[in-house]
Amino acid sequence: MNGTGQCLCGAVTFEAKDVESHVHACHCSMCRRWNGGPALAVAVGSVTFAGEANIRRYRSSEWAERGFCKKCGSNLFYFLMPNRYIIEAGLFNEQDFKLESEIFCAGKPTWYEFAGGHPRHDGLPSD
Ligand SMILES: [Zn+2]
Ligand SMILES: [Zn+2]
Repeated sequence: MNGTGQCLCGAVTFEAKDVESHVHACHCSMCRRWNGGPALAVAVGSVTFAGEANIRRYRSSEWAERGFCKKCGSNLFYFLMPNRYIIEAGLFNEQDFKLESEIFCAGKPTWYEFAGGHPRHDGLPSD
């Protein structure tokens, strides 16, 4: 499916193609620091941003950048270089998603849990 969305202030909007219907939750310490909690995100085939000038990119590791809106601070995406965008699920106008899996559960704090019988991986799914 295709999807559209925006940040909180609307300075950044996007149109994404081939949006996965599965949300992945990541409990790693980097995502938790960045989001204030687990990351809830969906992979897309491609995405076009309007308001690119309002996007700041933070190089969070050798292989990835994290993008956010310079005006309102909304977290926008995890960008796995060179070309894979994983977009924060909450930004989408349509919320027709399912929680598909949780990753890096080994580092998850004990004070919250997501319901459901989906796979929970200690690290990445291949681990
Ligand atoms: Zn914004
Ligand atoms: Zn993570």
